[in-house]
Amino acid sequence: MSDCVFCKIVAGKIPAKLLHEDEFVVAFADLNPQAPTHLLVIPRQHIETLNETGPEDSSLIGRMVAVATSLAKARGVDQSGYRCVLNCNADGGQSVFHIHLHLLAGRKLAWPPG
Ligand code: 5GP
Ligand code: ZN
Repeated sequence: MSDCVFCKIVAGKIPAKLLHEDEFVVAFADLNPQAPTHLLVIPRQHIETLNETGPEDSSLIGRMVAVATSLAKARGVDQSGYRCVLNCNADGGQSVFHIHLHLLAGRKLAWPPG
């Protein structure tokens, strides 16, 4: 998608602090961090929302979670704790329509979310 900011990051057309890259997913620091650790894990493939995923995407989504877990361990927040979030559409707070997993850590996160 030519007008998608995350597709542009995947293509290297806009800069991002890349933390992981493989054949299927890319991880980078969020531009506007909401916690001391705030990373995004995205598929290379443009998928607008979770509603466009199905059982055929379970390995891709599982890989996104596995990369987040491994980044949490690499940053030493696995024992203190972290949160993985996938927002969907307006009520879920989604603002970029290319699915992404937020990894948030480094402070006590409130629950329930606002
Ligand atoms: P959402 O609200 O869709 O769940 O999350 C989108 C996230 O993408 C936000 O946390 C926002 O700060 C981040 N974001 C938006 N544009 C960019 C960008 O150009 N670069 C990076 N690194 N993060 C971005
Ligand atoms: Zn995209």
